[in-house]
Amino acid sequence: MAMAVLPIIEAPDRRLKVRSEPVARVNDEIRRLLDDMVETMRVAPGIGLSAIQVGVAQRVIVTEVPEKTAEDQPAKATTLYLVNPEITWTSDSLVICEEGCLSIPDQFADLERPAEVAMRYLDRNGASQELKAAGVLARCLQHEMDHLEGILLVDRLSPVRRHMILRKLAKARKKPAFA
Ligand SMILES: [Zn+2]
Repeated sequence: MAMAVLPIIEAPDRRLKVRSEPVARVNDEIRRLLDDMVETMRVAPGIGLSAIQVGVAQRVIVTEVPEKTAEDQPAKATTLYLVNPEITWTSDSLVICEEGCLSIPDQFADLERPAEVAMRYLDRNGASQELKAAGVLARCLQHEMDHLEGILLVDRLSPVRRHMILRKLAKARKKPAFA
């Protein structure tokens, strides 16, 4: 079946504040959602997407983070399908990194988070999986996990910086498309 590009919800929208519900069973409907989310993420383009960003309040995440496996090889992106993901461990070491969000287009902010995470989740066949991530993938997974709790990147900033970003977002929207 052909994949569909879904509209991405943008801040401020009350749906982005919703805590997503666990998936009862990984069935064809969930696999369809996963495929549509991957297609939507690629078109955006982005490296991660949570189901709530396309209006579905279920604990579903996809990521596609380019990773270099060898110095002489081009970076290859592995697609991860995560259903009911949980963070089981975070490193004590923190790292400050610039973060963006498809629901807050073209706005970026420096944010401190653990450098590494371990996760447990169900894959697209419903099998239990574990992974450990560092770098951009660790950052991306934590960002998407926040979405499942109804937390946006701007919610982790000081009120002053949050308002600054949301004001810039509102201003950018008012500009004509050709500007
Ligand atoms: Zn986001």
